[in-house]
Amino acid sequence: MSRSWSSGTTPFDRLTSHYDDVDLKCPSCGYEDEDGHWKAETNGDTVLYRHLCPSCGSIRKRTLKLRS
Ligand SMILES: [Zn+2]
Repeated sequence: MSRSWSSGTTPFDRLTSHYDDVDLKCPSCGYEDEDGHWKAETNGDTVLYRHLCPSCGSIRKRTLKLRS
């Protein structure tokens, strides 16, 4: 892995902050996780987002391709 995502403004940073503000309501129990956020990981080509519902423990996942 030669690319660093740790500093500056990258597409990854923008995607991460974007998902921080949307869709934090759990579809399983309806809990709105206002203080929560999606955690993002990347392997360089794909971003994997995860959100753990603090109420029912349901884990949602999303993937997003950075490049095609
Ligand atoms: Zn839930």
